[in-house]
Amino acid sequence: MGEDRGNGGQRGNRGEEGAAPVAGLTRRAFVRGAAAAAGLVVASRLPQAFAAPAGSAFGGLDPFTLGVASGDPTSYSVVLWSRLAPQPLAPDGLGGMPASPVDVRWEIALDDQMRQVVKRGTFVARPETAHAVKVEVLGLPADRWYWFRFDAGGVASRIGRTRTFPAAGTLAQRLRFAFASCQNWQSGFYAAWRDAAQQDLDFVAHLGDYIYESGVSRSAPRQHDGPEIFTLAQYRNRHALYRTDPDLQDAHAAFPFLVTWDDHEVDNDYAGASQENGAPVPQFLQRRAAAYQAWSEHMPVTAGVRPVGPDMRIYRRFLYGRLASVYLLDTRQYRSSRACGGAQVGTCPDRSDPARSMMGAAQEAWLSQGLAGSTSRWNVLGNQTVMAQLNFIAAFPGQELYNLDQWDGFAANRDRILQLCADRRVPNPVVITGDIHSSWVWDLRARSADPSSPVVATEFVGTSISSGGDDAFDLGAAGAANPGFRFYDGERGYVRCEVDAGLWRSDFRVVANVLDPASPVSTKASFVVESGRPGAVRV
Ligand code: FE
Ligand code: CA
Repeated sequence: MGEDRGNGGQRGNRGEEGAAPVAGLTRRAFVRGAAAAAGLVVASRLPQAFAAPAGSAFGGLDPFTLGVASGDPTSYSVVLWSRLAPQPLAPDGLGGMPASPVDVRWEIALDDQMRQVVKRGTFVARPETAHAVKVEVLGLPADRWYWFRFDAGGVASRIGRTRTFPAAGTLAQRLRFAFASCQNWQSGFYAAWRDAAQQDLDFVAHLGDYIYESGVSRSAPRQHDGPEIFTLAQYRNRHALYRTDPDLQDAHAAFPFLVTWDDHEVDNDYAGASQENGAPVPQFLQRRAAAYQAWSEHMPVTAGVRPVGPDMRIYRRFLYGRLASVYLLDTRQYRSSRACGGAQVGTCPDRSDPARSMMGAAQEAWLSQGLAGSTSRWNVLGNQTVMAQLNFIAAFPGQELYNLDQWDGFAANRDRILQLCADRRVPNPVVITGDIHSSWVWDLRARSADPSSPVVATEFVGTSISSGGDDAFDLGAAGAANPGFRFYDGERGYVRCEVDAGLWRSDFRVVANVLDPASPVSTKASFVVESGRPGAVRV
């Protein structure tokens, strides 16, 4: 797996009509294939399997308790997701399913009534992958909306909506998307997802902390399903628990997601093969393998993103025509262990040691090559932790205190990326970030420690969906003394973006009360970046 999600090779799924690997096709053959796909439209009728009486299988229970999702769209394909789990929290982690394969029928249509079906097929859901359903539908016409659903044992799922991206080389008029992170179940409810699901978006980027690994907090507004998770069954059930949330389900049913991860999908603040509280490496790698396996089962990611023991390559690029490239980064799996002897915060010379890496050499080379050769109008880096230099005591001249889990703990790696953006004149780099449970805007300079170096990029840091709950904390005063600082807000929410060839706009959506699933959500602040002029301007 090394291809872009815009023009790479793909594989088909059993029973898919009209599916052909696209990799080797000429452009003309591909256009013909797309036309043939459009010609596959079936006139108004419901297939028999979808009309069977409900409740005949799965002991009368709904197998689609975790909803439906889609993701990793290209200009010709998209991944459809579900998981059969009539009892989503069954202790063995198998969702109440038998230990045998189950046929799942799927179909994708041009309309929300599922009348104009363009493709259908059967996917075999297997107990080895917790009866996850992942269908990579190929040969779809570019840049349009689709609706899809599944059927297992005569029970139909809800209908989800998804889309393909604009064709390679075309400059789309407009892109709208949201990015989000950090949805600790125990910290509150998902009013932010309820609001996002109602927006007019082409996709959602999830930047990590999709689940949290911690045990039960009795004082929380809602509780985790058990103690801190270590085993495959526990990671599966934690994902399943989060996926039972109706607002999160609505967001997944409304848009394709582009998903990466941060630390809590495995363990707080892990770095490569080293664990927060110093478990032996082989033991931690076993845990990481279980966590990665469960993640791949629950995320609507392409088949190329799959675990190999404790490793899984998830960094990948999406092309939204020529308007935007989106690089989803993985800054956990390959990072060097923490600087300054493992301190949480502080500073020391090895913070800036060029041999220490946030991304790992292979991912850094991949990103550098992609950025240096990019012809996209906007180049979006979807990443986990704050990239801007953020000295928490910048107000005291000569004193330094950095969060060493962020890019400040890997300063040389950061500055190599930003200096490359300057040297190669990368068109409009924009960094989008999660992790810190608060909203920020930063101007990023080619050399972070040199305020006289040019601004080359803009960073929008999105707050948490729920993590942090309704605790009031204010990092704004500490952040404001840093040279690149533009904005801070400490509430829960997400970021909505609207992008065209000339202008990027980010709206910070904030939740009034994270303890209320019906809470109002409103725009707290908006910033724009003009094409060709790095740096954010408040509007
Ligand atoms: Fe978080
Ligand atoms: Ca985090």
